[in-house]
Amino acid sequence: MKRIWTAGVCWAVLVILLAGCAGSDARITQIATIDSLLAGVYDGSATIGALKQYGTLGIGTLDKLDGEMLMLDGVVYQIRADGNVYLPGDDQTTPFAAVVDFRPEKVVELPEPVSLGVLLDRLDRQAPNRNGMVAIHLRGEFRRMRTRSVPAQQKPYRPLVEVTRHQPEFELGRISGDLVGFRLPAYVKGINVPGWHLHFISAGRQQGGHVLDFELDSGRLELAEIYDFRMILPRESDAFAAADLSVDRAGELHEAESAQVE
Ligand SMILES: [Zn+2]
Repeated sequence: MKRIWTAGVCWAVLVILLAGCAGSDARITQIATIDSLLAGVYDGSATIGALKQYGTLGIGTLDKLDGEMLMLDGVVYQIRADGNVYLPGDDQTTPFAAVVDFRPEKVVELPEPVSLGVLLDRLDRQAPNRNGMVAIHLRGEFRRMRTRSVPAQQKPYRPLVEVTRHQPEFELGRISGDLVGFRLPAYVKGINVPGWHLHFISAGRQQGGHVLDFELDSGRLELAEIYDFRMILPRESDAFAAADLSVDRAGELHEAESAQVE
């Protein structure tokens, strides 16, 4: 019990408030919806150049579902299914992404090892308003990191849940790097991913992907609560117009965002 108490005190003491707890005036801008992606609307509808106008930090995917996207400090990275990291040009496009002009309000030092689950519980305590939105950037040393990516698709597009049944997964072992992502509230169901959704890129910018699991050794976390959100929908996409977005895809989402069970 004493160890737990000590860790709790360390955690509390090391939280640094940068700008109060009221939430920044930053805005999350999202391209299309998670359910349109689940339905197989993989053709990009917004350019990477446009994303950079909307924010400096974010996650998503690329045209044709060609890998995982991560934006950090205004730089967009593409982690493709071959496990390598590419820098997409501003004229490349995305069918689904969310970005924010990230201005951290809290910095949390994480001096001790924690699992993914324990870390997320602690972060929830830092942002207790479960109906608000949260963006994070964590730079850390990881004892192990498990990610996945998705391969570029050809028409006719299969639903996302079928693609991710054969997703390449990467055990990255001991590695340093950056986690980026959001915690979004339950009511975004159908629009984005409720709960935590994180992507990773290594410090050397050579590996990464959609985060499945990790153990953190130590790190430094930056967090901002967000209370402004907008969507930019595909304007000239027949596929988007025709997608059936009336069905409940929560089960598909859970499977598509998780690790392979086979
Ligand atoms: Zn993802």
